[in-house]
Amino acid sequence: MAAIGMHSAQEVLRQVFGYDSFRPPQGQVIDTVLAGKDCFVLMPTGGGKSLCFQIPALLLPGTALVVSPLISLMKDQVDALVANGVAAAYYNSSMSDLDGREVLAKLQAGQLSLLYVSPERAVMPDFISRFAKGVSMVAIDEAHCVSQWGHDFRPEYVQLGNLKDRLPDVPFIALTATADNQTREDILLRLNLRDPEVFVSGFDRPNIRYMVVDKSHPLTQTEKFILERPEDSGIVYCTSRKRTEQVAEALRRHGIAAQPYHAGMPNDERQKVQERFQKDEVRVVVATVAFGMGIDKPNVRFVIHYDLPKNVEGYYQETGRAGRDGLPSEAMLLFGAGDIVTVRSLIEQSPNQRQKAIELKKLQSMIDMAEALTCRRRYLLSYFGEKIEHDCGNCDVCLSPPESYDATEDAKLAMMAVYAVRQRYGMAHVIELLRGAATARMSQTGHDRLAEYGSGKHLNGDDWSSIIRQLVNLGYLWQDAANYSVLKLTPLTKPILREGVHLSLARPRVKVKTERPSRRRAATKVGDLDIDETLLAALKSLRRKLADELMVPSYVVFGDVTLQQMAATKPKTREDLMEVSGVGQVKLDRYGALFLAEIAKY
Ligand code: ADP
Ligand code: ZN
Repeated sequence: MAAIGMHSAQEVLRQVFGYDSFRPPQGQVIDTVLAGKDCFVLMPTGGGKSLCFQIPALLLPGTALVVSPLISLMKDQVDALVANGVAAAYYNSSMSDLDGREVLAKLQAGQLSLLYVSPERAVMPDFISRFAKGVSMVAIDEAHCVSQWGHDFRPEYVQLGNLKDRLPDVPFIALTATADNQTREDILLRLNLRDPEVFVSGFDRPNIRYMVVDKSHPLTQTEKFILERPEDSGIVYCTSRKRTEQVAEALRRHGIAAQPYHAGMPNDERQKVQERFQKDEVRVVVATVAFGMGIDKPNVRFVIHYDLPKNVEGYYQETGRAGRDGLPSEAMLLFGAGDIVTVRSLIEQSPNQRQKAIELKKLQSMIDMAEALTCRRRYLLSYFGEKIEHDCGNCDVCLSPPESYDATEDAKLAMMAVYAVRQRYGMAHVIELLRGAATARMSQTGHDRLAEYGSGKHLNGDDWSSIIRQLVNLGYLWQDAANYSVLKLTPLTKPILREGVHLSLARPRVKVKTERPSRRRAATKVGDLDIDETLLAALKSLRRKLADELMVPSYVVFGDVTLQQMAATKPKTREDLMEVSGVGQVKLDRYGALFLAEIAKY
């Protein structure tokens, strides 16, 4: 590290990364690694795990090995480090032999502070035996991949358990954002860490607004949401490859720069989508969850779940990809009863009984979260073993609390309508009947002559859809997924229809507020500073120009938080600029003059 001539973690934080204070527990983790002890770090996505190993890597003599499961993530992290003047490189199967040899030569010569390496390469016997001497520490990122209890098990990770024996004298640090207890314990066991210090930071992501919306017209709902946020980039998660393509195409028809991203696409195509997303050329990526880990971008402003995630861990990790930079961001889950059946039947196909039982239980927790009528954040955090004192004020339930009402009469109308069409039609048809819609379908079936035709005119279609969904969720009606999702009566129907049993439901919400949270109320230091929007736009275009010249994503030059602070505080001197979060020594030297000149124009 003598290369940069800095001696304390605090100095590196300021000079190299341009930040002025550690977030808990970064400082303690760094001290522990520097003292030579193993660490296990649990922090939510965006919490700042990377600095926990990047800073000790710069302070310890030798090279830190960073094991990371995804080639694309390695490249991004290395680009960002190099932009800050750090000697970092990666070594994986994506590179040519020549490039590989060049990296190894640098490693041998002790010229690298950090080397990112794929798990396969890290465990190759000759790799370790050749380089063991120069290794200062080992960081294992996304450590949950080693556990079958986790939701993203990767067989290549299993052998990492042997690494500790081969490098017994250097500190190991394992990091993950996955929080459930079983997985935690399994990770410690499998990685063979020596009596590690465990650091758990709060899992809350206060800048993310959680929203669960009735899935009625998913495509329209998704389009509308995205069109209302013309500046923002985001991810839409779907469960099937085909759907990612369909949704991306539909979005493009609305002029939204959207691309699909899934395992079935050729490697180079996937990589291109990802690079263009990082560079903001693609605004929306429509992805399958399986490949979500490859998407990493600090200014993802929204994550939409088009389909129901299989478990809360996955949901939390996927939504966590929004707002890494700490600015207000949104997560919208489209929740429909039909999806429950689909996911359940997928899980049922597993031949492994034990696994199946675990997965079904996890699915139930996911459903409970979507159906919860209490603060979503409370539910999520308590799932991960954390309590919060107050409702969050930043989820759909807090922003527009559901009221319950005596829905007996409405439920009866819905049930009678289902009965009147002889339990042979789906929800859309039943709603048309209730609303007395003058459609061809009503006249062709002769249902416009039924006594029930128009019996539910007092409510609109969305209200009925919400009521019928609740009835299905609660078991008062059954949606036969195997048979065109036809609505049927259940044993619970009769007590309501004939025996005077009362039923209370959540009052259909006229419209869940999905207004964009205010950009000004940032959860970061930008705080309530007054951002000069014209200046901000000018700084962004300067950033874009520089990023294009360097062929890197724009955040590698400066993140949004940094530009917002510049646009608010309007620094005049190099010293002022250095005070801005995210401006380190190297970036100050490289870009400082250009940004100061741009600001001086105002
Ligand atoms: P994780 O790996 O935990 O998902 P990252 O390490 O990518 O999170 O950090 C998320 C964001 O927070 C990055 O933009 C990073 O630069 C920023 N960050 C991390 N630590 C600090 C800090 N101490 N002060 C200011 N920003 C920080
Ligand atoms: Zn809440």
